[in-house]
Amino acid sequence: MQLINQQAQLRTVIGGLKKEGKSVALVPTMGALHQGHLALVERARSLADVVVASVFVNPTQFGPDEDFDAYPRTLDDDRRLLDECGADILWAPATTEVYAPNHSTTVTVSGTTDGLCGAARPGHFDGVTTIVAKLCNQTQPDYAVFGEKDYQQLATIRRMVRDLDMPVQIVGVTTIREADGLALSSRNRYLSETERAAAVALPVAMRQAIQSIRAGEPVDRSLVTLEGTLLAGGFSSVDYAQLRDADTLEPLTSADAPARLLVAAHIGKTRLIDNMAVEPIGSG
Ligand code: AMP
Repeated sequence: MQLINQQAQLRTVIGGLKKEGKSVALVPTMGALHQGHLALVERARSLADVVVASVFVNPTQFGPDEDFDAYPRTLDDDRRLLDECGADILWAPATTEVYAPNHSTTVTVSGTTDGLCGAARPGHFDGVTTIVAKLCNQTQPDYAVFGEKDYQQLATIRRMVRDLDMPVQIVGVTTIREADGLALSSRNRYLSETERAAAVALPVAMRQAIQSIRAGEPVDRSLVTLEGTLLAGGFSSVDYAQLRDADTLEPLTSADAPARLLVAAHIGKTRLIDNMAVEPIGSG
């Protein structure tokens, strides 16, 4: 695996591969890699001749009071894992290599960014879409692979690529979970032992809510119960617990169409997000 941290070198290498007719799949990450990220790399390998994984903790997607400084940076471990997993190129630029001092351009997607993390983290999705657009321009991928773990992000990136006619196919990968159901996340490293044990309440309460919605319980009542279960189970606050259309992310009050339950909640100093499919009532 080749480690590249200069744009000029990346351009030469990718240009050469493209000339040879090789297809490229990009896996954007912020590092602190776990099995969830590696599942994306596996999928990328099945799609294209060359897999480029990027590791870049993107400052513009963090709010002023968020964890940009504390975010785990583990490049040596990430490099080893990506190498073992069969990635071909690790693109790990410094911030100064990515953003000019007077960087002036932002990509904003509306609609899919309304509410949920868009409300809880102002400016976050502008940071995400801008960096993903830049990473695609830098690496010229045929495919870009993202996790369903960040479902609103995935829907927003699909929308950006469609609206801007970007020549890349977006591929979503199912969320990888711990044995007890907690979604893998780089931020799980922040959890103390007690918090980690309590965090399992998130997927458990979500599954219960889905069951009750599919059993015909009103959606709002199921969501209130979900929030109550999280607060009783050791979470300090719930940013949101909502049912949304699985494609458009528009709010839903009943599960007649394919839907997604999306939740963000705080445990100690850590903010966890998760989402699950809610099949329409009457199906399956
Ligand atoms: P991050 O490093 O947190 O920005 O995540 C990089 C990519 O990995 C994003 O597309 C995430 O959705 C994806 N990802 C993170 N956690 C998981 C997981 N548990 N399962 C699948 N994909 C994940």
